[in-house]
Amino acid sequence: MQLYNSLSHTKEEFIPNEAGKVSLYTCGPTVYHYAHIGNLRTYMMEDILDRYLRYAGYRVTRVMNITDVGHLTSDADTGEDKMLKGAKREHKSVMEIAKFYTDCFFDDCRKLNIRRPEVVQPATGCVEDFIKVISSLLEKGYAYLAGGNVYFDTSKLKQYYVFHNFEEEDLAVGVREGVEEDGNKRNKADFVLWFTKSKFDDQELKWESPWGLGYPGWHIECSCISMKYLGEKLDIHCGGIDNAFPHHTNEIAQSEAYLGHKWCNYWFHVLHLNTTTGKMSKSSGEFLTLSLLEQKGYDPMVYRFFCLQSHYRKSLVFSFENLDNAKTAYAKLLARIAQLSEDGAVDQAAFEAQKANFVKALDNDLNTSLAVTAVYDVLKLPAGGATKLALLREFDSVLQLNLLEGAKALQNAPTGEPAADDGFAREIEAQIEARRAAKAAKNYAEADRIRSELAARGVTLIDTKDGTTYRVEPR
Ligand code: AMP
Ligand code: ZN
Repeated sequence: MQLYNSLSHTKEEFIPNEAGKVSLYTCGPTVYHYAHIGNLRTYMMEDILDRYLRYAGYRVTRVMNITDVGHLTSDADTGEDKMLKGAKREHKSVMEIAKFYTDCFFDDCRKLNIRRPEVVQPATGCVEDFIKVISSLLEKGYAYLAGGNVYFDTSKLKQYYVFHNFEEEDLAVGVREGVEEDGNKRNKADFVLWFTKSKFDDQELKWESPWGLGYPGWHIECSCISMKYLGEKLDIHCGGIDNAFPHHTNEIAQSEAYLGHKWCNYWFHVLHLNTTTGKMSKSSGEFLTLSLLEQKGYDPMVYRFFCLQSHYRKSLVFSFENLDNAKTAYAKLLARIAQLSEDGAVDQAAFEAQKANFVKALDNDLNTSLAVTAVYDVLKLPAGGATKLALLREFDSVLQLNLLEGAKALQNAPTGEPAADDGFAREIEAQIEARRAAKAAKNYAEADRIRSELAARGVTLIDTKDGTTYRVEPR
């Protein structure tokens, strides 16, 4: 598989550290607000990477942090903690909003078929690990104390700017525009590992440390959480492109200083979702959420379909006109699939030939738009329904567009028109399919979890000899 690596600025053959196994780390959300659909684009494209690696036969372990402390409103370490700002906005405690927005995030992920990583670790649960690594960086001379805070000394590195050849002066006026400099820093690019002092003394969560009562910087969380669960050598680290600097640059600096060797081999960055006026961002306060799209009548699968039609390394402009086009195309696609029936046997030669096209598309740096084209190519085949349905099932195990469940929901709708609660029906069908797969894999705990989750939402599953149906209980 060829994967673009932001470190080398080229597509490279993906070779994991250990044959057959992949360690994958994802920067998780800062849970001070709803995720916007730009954030969700990043998580969806990372999901395709995760699923495709599994499809290709790798045993993947994926870890994601939840940023519930330390992410400041400015990159120059002088801003307020975003979590505290969010808590003040809502007159709640930091932990209350962290729980609320973490749950909302995973609700969105479930609706978009984004697989939950094996490990999801809130930063507040790992403070001891951060203190251990920061202490070691101080001992090794890579960090210093100034004005009550611990800073990483970037001048100790041979090369700090690993992703881009930034000039210090460019940074002063570019990335950190309008931000006052922290006078404690020995070098402009130095960053805080541990705060005991900031302008914002009302920081809600603080911990005892060898340097006084305080809280960790944002960057140290991802290094430590990754190393804690995935060891000293990481295969792939993911995030949105805005994370490349300073966040990922700082992660590399401190991890490699601590370990004394190379840490992560491949850096996977997803380009932004932009509005017609610029980047979609939480801090601007004006952003679109998945719930808002749903309220406007868009099935979350339409948004997934919209995103998969473009490459993750191209920025994507969102407009309702573009989303409407995706909605129409997705509905037509489901309608065509709904006309297929399981007639005849699967033509193995045709199956393998089409599968090869699909694999070729994703092997080429996850070209999802060509993978979607491969779906349309299946429909044009001279083969029978059984072959086409087998191929669509195969492709959708990676794409996760609910193609078969969606088509089935259409077949079951009383008229040819999609039912009003079509998205809901499709989601239930997808859950039923996931439960069937879990049972087939003898993962009964997961099968039970799905049944209970649906029951909590008022959906009772009925197992019959011909498969599983469901009943929606009156509320
Ligand atoms: P945050 O919750 O702000 O920490 O961001 C979560 C993820 O979304 C990170 O990987 C960011 O790089 C990514 N991200 C932020 N803004 C956008 C955007 N407009 N489009 C795509 N990804 C984004
Ligand atoms: Zn991170």
